[in-house]
Formats: sequence, C-alpha cells, structure tokens
Amino acid sequence: MERSASRAVTPRRGPDLDRSVRPSRAAGGQPAPWNRRVQVGCQAVDVGDADAIVVGAGPNGLAASIELARAGRSVLLLEAADTVGGGCRTAELTLPGFRHDVCSAIHPLAVASPFFRSISQEELGVGWVHPGVPLAHPLDGGEAVVLERSVEATAAGLGADRGAYLRAIAPLVDAGERLVPQLLAPLRMPRHPVSLARFGLSGIRSATGLSRSRFRGERARALLAGVAAHSILPLDRSPTAAFGLTLALLAHLVGWPMARGGSQAIADGLARHLESLGGRIETGRRITALSELPPDRTILLDVTPRQLVSMAQGGLPGRYERALRRYRYGPGVYKVDWALSSPIPWTAPRVPEAGTVHLGGSLEEVADAEAAVWRGEHPERPFVVLAQQSPFDPSRAPAGRHTAWAYCHVPNGSSVDMAARIEAQVERFAPGFGDVILARSTMGPSALERHDPNHVGGDINGGIQDLRQLFTRPVVRTDPYSTPVPGLFLCSSSTPPGGGVHGMCGSFAARSAVRHRG
Ligand SMILES: Cc1cc2nc3c(=O)[nH]c(=O)nc-3n(C[C@H](O)[C@H](O)[C@H](O)COP(=O)(O)OP(=O)(O)OC[C@H]3O[C@@H](n4cnc5c(N)ncnc54)[C@H](O)[C@@H]3O)c2cc1C
Repeated sequence: MERSASRAVTPRRGPDLDRSVRPSRAAGGQPAPWNRRVQVGCQAVDVGDADAIVVGAGPNGLAASIELARAGRSVLLLEAADTVGGGCRTAELTLPGFRHDVCSAIHPLAVASPFFRSISQEELGVGWVHPGVPLAHPLDGGEAVVLERSVEATAAGLGADRGAYLRAIAPLVDAGERLVPQLLAPLRMPRHPVSLARFGLSGIRSATGLSRSRFRGERARALLAGVAAHSILPLDRSPTAAFGLTLALLAHLVGWPMARGGSQAIADGLARHLESLGGRIETGRRITALSELPPDRTILLDVTPRQLVSMAQGGLPGRYERALRRYRYGPGVYKVDWALSSPIPWTAPRVPEAGTVHLGGSLEEVADAEAAVWRGEHPERPFVVLAQQSPFDPSRAPAGRHTAWAYCHVPNGSSVDMAARIEAQVERFAPGFGDVILARSTMGPSALERHDPNHVGGDINGGIQDLRQLFTRPVVRTDPYSTPVPGLFLCSSSTPPGGGVHGMCGSFAARSAVRHRG
C-alpha cells in the first residue's frame, strides 16, 4: 500500500490573512509585473518589516535565507509544510520508534559544500556519522566492490584495474579542495583552470565510455556505473562520468556520512542558525500566487520553473515564461523504507560496513536499467540505491531493530508499484531479507510530489541534469538566479549547481539578490 508522507497542513493565521490584497505599487508607481493581474480577494501574507521573503524551506531556501540574513537583510522564510526541510526531513514512516529519512539520506555534498563549511559545527549542531565504508556494490557470486575512504584501499580491491583507478582518481583527490567549490558553482571563469580541465577531460565523457576505455574488469566498471547512475541519465550520455567521478572523489575526500538522528537534523540546524541571525520562519504557509506577497520586497523562490509559472499567473515576460515552460523534468523515483527485525543479511563480506549499497550488478545491467527508464519503461531488475543507517546510528530504531531506505528510478509520473522489484534486488544479494521485514512504507512519484511539490513527477533533482540543462537551469541567462522581474529570484535546485543537499543554489541566489538589490 502506498503510504503518503504528506500531512494535512493547517495554515497559521497571521493577523492579516483575511485582508484583501490591494494591488501594491513597485517603486515608480507601476504595479509590479506579477501584480498586474491581482485578483481582488486573494489573501495577503503579513510579512511585517521583512525586506527579503524566501518561499520554501528546503536546504536551498534555508541557505538563501541565511546568506540574506548575513548580508543584513530582515528575512522571512515561508514554508508550506508544517516542518522545515523539503527534501531533508525525517519521520516515523513505518512503526513507532523507527525514524526514516523521507527523502535525502546520505550527505557527501553537504559536508563538502562551501556554504555548509561557512557554518561552524557548533552553529549547525549536526553530528555527522561516518559508516565503516562509504559504499559497497555487491556482485553476483557473493562478492562486493567497496569504495573506501582511502583511494589506495579502494584501488587494491579492483584487481587488474588498481593502477587505472589510481590514475583516474588520485589526481582529482589531490586537487579536491580546489576542485569541489568549482563543481558546486554556476558556470564562471574557473579559479583553478588546470584542475578543472583535468576533471573535465574525463567528466565530459559518458560513464560507459570512460569505464570501457579505462577499466578492464567487471569490478571497477560496476563501481563507476553505480556512482554515475546518480545522474539519473542514460549511462551512455555525456556527462554521466562527471557525476560518477564527483561522488567517488567525495567518498575519498570527505566521506559519505549521514546525519545523526536523521536528515531532519540538518534542516533543523540550518533553521536554528537562521533564527540566531534574526531570520523568521513561518511553516504552514503555502504561497500559491506571487500576488500574495508585497512586490516591493526582494523575493526568492525555492520552487521549480513549473511552479514559478503557475505562481506568476501570467505576469512573467512572455519570452521568459515560454523558456520556463520548455524546462525539462527527468525520471521520477520510487522509494521504500523498511522497519527491520535485524540488519540486512548480506551475503558478501564488507557490505554490512557500508552506509550506502548499490544494487544492480554489472555495468551492463545498471546501464540497461537506466536506459529502460529513459525509454519510459520499468526495468524488471532496477538499479537500486539503498542506505542502511541504523547499524551506524542506533537512534534510528528501537534497540536491536533496524531501518533501511531505498529507491529506484522510474519514468516521470509513473504509477507502477516497484516495491516487489526493489525487494527482489535486495533479496538477490541478501537472501532471507524478506524474513526480517517488520513493516514497509512506499512512496511513488505522486506521493513524493504531495510531500514536496518540487518533486515534479517524482523528479528529485528539480529537473534533468544533462549537458543542456546542468548549468543553464532554469533558462539560458548570464545570472541564472535572477528573473526579468526586478526583485524576483529563483533559489531551488532548478538553478546551478542542481540537485543535492548542499545549499549552494540558495547561497548563490542570495548573493545575486544582494548584488541586484543593493
Ligand atoms: C527520495 C529522495 C532521495 C534523495 N537522496 C538524496 C541524498 O541522499 N543526498 C542528497 O544530497 N540529496 C538527495 N536528494 C535530493 C535533495 O533532497 C534535493 O536536491 C534538495 O532537497 C533540494 O533542495 P531545495 O531546497 O532546492 O528543494 P526542496 O528540498 O525540494 O525544498 C523545497 C521546499 O519548498 C517548499 N515549497 C514549495 N512550494 C512552496 C510554496 N508554493 N509555498 C511554500 N513553500 C513551498 C516545499 O514544501 C519544500 O519544503 C534526494 C531527494 C529525494 C526526493
């Protein structure tokens, strides 16, 4: 049974909620573009003396709010749901006492992000839990490839490809501290062109192309296929290799940790930090039209292009709106969370040490599964990303019990139940898995979108991240965060550098707003 994690939201009634909107005037006496069509009777939000309003308290909305508060703005953050976090929340989805990450679970991007690094450990208050190894990728026959923190140890497990792995990864890791900030940024003049060029030469390739040219054995090829499949693109397309190399690089550089107590701790930490800087947060505040907001304030939206078009109600310049309507969303996700009576009974040694497990077998099998999703099909043996948190963070489940989290890719908007196919993939590498399941919660694309409207059709990255749309999201513009409407900015993962819990979209959007608004 699909169980939605969305909750009924009761809007908090601000003092002026029932006030009819008077078409407010932008400086210069003209109605702001989105207010030209103000509907009388539309409910206004009382924003008080806030001079910057951020809509949506996902990691990027929170990051944008923090940057604005740091720049001296008085910030009001409005969130539709009754908790902050967006794709960074934790809830008891199955049984009492079992705490599941509703969306994001594993956070290499957060710990590597320049934005997160600008907040001290004390201010954020998140305990990062590092599992024994970042990733295991079991193969048929009871063996597994292991991505370890150490480049050398990882290479040693790749047999004949030891040298090839060292040559591909070690220089990137050496340049990692310079490289990562450039990867988590919009297109701009590189500060370290040599390291970026070295990364780009391999990253621009497809994962299958890079794997087959660099690696001879199944183990290294499968490992790269699994990490590259996080791109949610067919693996024979450019730049899927870049996604794989980035995630492998992060495993070596910073690890793939989880947040103690669940991903909600990250969102709560950001919210606390924002409030310590004087920012205000109101949950239960869904903004359906921009006309609900005073147009003379700076407004940042943690929403995707489709929502922006709807919220603007025809008030955007035609060319910009048409470009937003052409924005492409990618495949969706089908997710399962389990309450378990014991740890997953993996066959291969070392898999129990991993926080993340990639289930999909060989490079060919993973590539076929991802290609099928792009053709609009549901693979019989999907590529599954699984996280096992409770062995490393006992706070996730009652004593002696466990949790696990997994998803596979499906066509956008799919309504096909993939739970049995996901569980068959787990059972393939952990026979007896079915016997330890106490309860499960499933969320297909529609439940994910109900939980957070930014997951359009189940797309978890706020839009396709191929070459055409990775840096030119949401549209081709010198400053992708600004819009043609003065004072209106986008700050979601539909802007560069795209999906993931890193806050960099919000951070860059806020800096753009401060630049434009003075
Ligand atoms: C199943 C799943 C697994 C994932 N796994 C990982 C992972 O392991 N690691 C990782 O780094 N990333 C992961 N991600 C991706 C990550 O969660 C997102 O990229 C990230 O949350 C994007 O942040 P955001 O702030 O742009 O948007 P979101 O997190 O989507 O937040 C948007 C917020 O805006 C609110 N909102 C939207 N419209 C309105 C409105 N009109 N009025 C008021 N509020 C509104 C929403 O309620 C939501 O709270 C995963 C995502 C999913 C769904």
